[in-house]
Parts: sequence; C-alpha cells; structure tokens
Amino acid sequence: MAFFRKSALEKGLEEILGPEGLLKEQADVVCYGFDSSGLENPPDLVALPKDIEQVRRVVGLCNSLEVAVTPRGAGSSTTGSAVPVCGGVVLCLSRMNRIIQIDPVELTARVEPGVVTGHLQKRVERHGLFYPPDPASLAFCTIGGNVATGAGGARAVKYGVTKDYVKGLKVVLADGSLIETGVQTAKGVVGYDLTRLFVGSEGTLGVVVEVVLRLIPRPRAVGTLAAFFSDMDLAVDAVSNLFESAVLPRCAEFLDKKSLDAVSSTLPFQVPTGSEAFILVEVDGDKPSVVHQLKEAAVCLERAGALSIVEPANRDERNKIWKVRRGVSPALRGLGYDTKVSEDVCVPRRAIKEMLAFLLRLEKDFGVDIFCFGHIGDGNLHVNLLFNKSDLDPKDLQKIVAMIMNKAVELGGTISGEHGIGLTKMQYIDIEHSEKVLGLEREIKRVFDPKGILNPGKIFKE
Ligand SMILES: Cc1cc2nc3c(=O)[nH]c(=O)nc-3n(C[C@H](O)[C@H](O)[C@H](O)COP(=O)(O)OP(=O)(O)OC[C@H]3O[C@@H](n4cnc5c(N)ncnc54)[C@H](O)[C@@H]3O)c2cc1C
Repeated sequence: MAFFRKSALEKGLEEILGPEGLLKEQADVVCYGFDSSGLENPPDLVALPKDIEQVRRVVGLCNSLEVAVTPRGAGSSTTGSAVPVCGGVVLCLSRMNRIIQIDPVELTARVEPGVVTGHLQKRVERHGLFYPPDPASLAFCTIGGNVATGAGGARAVKYGVTKDYVKGLKVVLADGSLIETGVQTAKGVVGYDLTRLFVGSEGTLGVVVEVVLRLIPRPRAVGTLAAFFSDMDLAVDAVSNLFESAVLPRCAEFLDKKSLDAVSSTLPFQVPTGSEAFILVEVDGDKPSVVHQLKEAAVCLERAGALSIVEPANRDERNKIWKVRRGVSPALRGLGYDTKVSEDVCVPRRAIKEMLAFLLRLEKDFGVDIFCFGHIGDGNLHVNLLFNKSDLDPKDLQKIVAMIMNKAVELGGTISGEHGIGLTKMQYIDIEHSEKVLGLEREIKRVFDPKGILNPGKIFKE
C-alpha cells in the first residue's frame, strides 16, 4: 500500500479505535493473515472494533481510501475466505461478543457477531432453549463467521443449518452505512430476502454486526449409538434404513477406515477387528420417544450387518465420542503428511455409495491418500487429500479436485455443503453455477460494494 495512503489510514483508524483497538506491528498483524486453510497473506493493519459505530467508521474510511477490508471472526475458515489476500485491513469482530438478549417468549437470541457458537449454545440451554447449528469448530468459531459462511454441522440432518435460524441482521455496508434486514416476528414476506443473501456471502457484501437468531425448545433427552461395519456400503445402507424406518436422527456421522484408524485409540471403547467404517447416530426428543427411536435405530444398524453397536454408558462417554468426532480434522494434520487439502462436497443420500466408490478409484489411480468423514445423514462428505508435496504433481492435485467436484455435481450434489468457496474453491465455482448465474452474482456484488473493498479476491475469479 502506498506510504501516504497507509499513514492516512493508520491515523484515521487510530482516531476511531484508540490504540487498544488497532494492531500495526508486523508480529501482531501476521496472526490475522491466515485461517484454517493453511493459506496466508498478512494484512497491513488489524482493526478490533468494540461497537457498531466503530465498524461503520472503519469501513467508511477504508471505502473512501479504497482500502481492502477483510471481516474476520475466529479465522477457522477452511477455504481461505478469512485470508486478506489483498492486504489492507482485517476487521476482526472478536471483541463484539455480547449476547444482548435471550427472549424465551419470542424464542430468539440477539447477539453480536463475535459470540462463540458453543458459548451461545450453553447460554440458551440454561433457559431450556436450543440453538441447533453445531459446526465441529463450535468451541471457537463465531456466530458472525457462521452467518457469513452459512455454516452447517452434524445436526443439520434434522434441524437444518445456520441460514435456517437467522431471522434478521444488522449489517454495515461498504460505504459505512448501517442497514437492518429481516423481521422480529414469526412471519414476514416484505420485499426481497436480503437476510438470506448475506448468509453465506463470506464477508463480500457487508459486515454483519448484529444477528437475531431463532431458537427452539431444548429436546429433553438425547440418545446415541455408535456402530462399526466391515464395509462402507453397509454403513450407508444402515443410514438409508433409518430414513426408511422413519427414524429422523438428529445426527448421522461417518468415518471411513482411514479416518477411524487416525482416531480409534482415543475412542472410549474397543474398535472391532475388520472395521472399515464407523457410524455415529444420535436421536432426541422426550424420554419415551428417545427410547423408542434408539430401539428402532439399533434394528436398522443390525439389519445392515453392524459388527458391533455401542451405546455410551453416560453423558461423559457421549461427550468423549463427540470430542473424537470433532477432532478428526485436526487429528489428520498430525499424521505426518505435509499437505492436507479438504473438500466438502454434498451429494443426495442415494448417491453416497457411488461417490465413495469413485473416491476409492481416485485414490488408486493417483496414489494419494483420501480420508473421508462427515455428515453422512445429509450426504455431506469431508474429503481430505493427504500427501507430501514432493509426491504429487500440482497439476494432478488440481485434476483430482476438479474430478471430485465434477462428480459431486454430476450426481446431483454441490461442490460445497458448508465451508463455502473462499479462495480454495474459486476456480471450481463454474462447475456448479452457469455463466448467467455468475454474471448476476457479480452484479449483486457491484451493487453492494461498487469499489470492491469488501473481502476482495474471494468467491469469483476476476
Ligand atoms: C476443526 C474444524 C472443524 C470445522 N467444522 C465445521 C463444520 O462442521 N461445519 C462448518 O460449516 N464449518 C466447519 N468448519 C469451518 C469453519 O469453522 C466455519 O466456516 C465457521 O463458520 C467460520 O467461523 P469463524 O468465526 O472462524 O469465521 P472466519 O474463519 O474468521 O471467517 C469466515 C468467513 O466469514 C467472514 N466473516 C467473519 N465474520 C464476519 C462478519 N461479522 N461479517 C461478515 N463477514 C464475516 C470472513 O470474511 C470469511 O469470509 C470447521 C473448521 C475447523 C478448523
């Protein structure tokens, strides 16, 4: 950034944020230059606003100086969407982390964007309420980041994803103005649904500064079953059996053999010999209904030929299993490969077997290790390619990823179930969206952000 522009920016930001709200030393700003994708590029400055007014003034200043602004929550994005590729200012919302109101009559929570998802869940549970979206990163990711990425999670199969719970937003636009979208009421159909437009827009259309979330009553009981199968297809059959028997699990998670091997020593029970796949099924409701659903679910798993079915003995054991499940992705990083590329395709349930068979073929053809796990109940598979850079030609990597994306779309699925496009999937977006659709999306971006300052270089190829 030109020296005179940087000094005008620095001076202006210091005035708005005070010294405690602005990071400018290289050692500090580098920490905001990467996310969980492994990609990085340091910003020039980091703004840490504490209220909406500060966000408005920061964004307004950046707009007038035509400086890039990359909104940031916890930086847990797996796609590079939080990486400030064009430098400029990272606008980190982590200090705006108040739960403003929990309303047990309207069944809503009004929160600032920096609230950590897991904290909100615990708080609403104290009121007998439930906020279902549960990305595996819930211990550290933020509601603002969840809204901006349209985050999903294990409970999506029964309860849906973040977008299904966002009733309204306060958003700071590129020119620093503040708008409110959505309604406070249970219903509302006035004009275009801008709330939905902001959800999943990855910080490219506006900065989310307040969120009104829908809550539901907390289910009184939860039941969990873990099952092992000698074949991946049998595990898929087991999940199909659940749906055919009208058991709607709140979670149906899957680990293939390689992912299971990576975490099996941390599971609170023995993995049977010959296990090629692991399924975790959870149901909820009132107590009698949970007992009934668990019985039905066990029959479905048995009918598919489960090697063994385990019911956690208590809440502690259940929590341990979930900790293991949520830790699969970080555990893969510890396996000694120097590169992990993680894809997040979603296919119709009927196409899961074909997708898994296709991945096995790719593994053989290209000699790359593919670890597959995820939310099998909704067809959302996290496909992780692990390799050492010296062993895989970058052209082959691109080819493999493109083949996975093409296959997902060919099967009636999507190239991203929950992580979004960011940087890493930008070159594949046209597999799914036609030129016409991409043209409309670019026009929308221009309307909201004519100077292109908000999270530039993301989602669309230039
Ligand atoms: C171990 C692990 C497990 C994960 N599991 C899941 C999972 O199960 N489901 C899932 O969906 N994702 C998962 N993720 C991905 C990630 O946690 C989610 O995408 C999450 O929503 C990102 O939240 P964040 O606060 O970290 O946002 P960041 O990573 O900081 O930002 C993500 C995007 O949101 C934008 N953004 C952030 N805050 C705002 C704001 N206030 N206004 C406008 N734009 C904003 C950023 O510019 C960026 O484009 C996982 C990640 C990890 C590391």
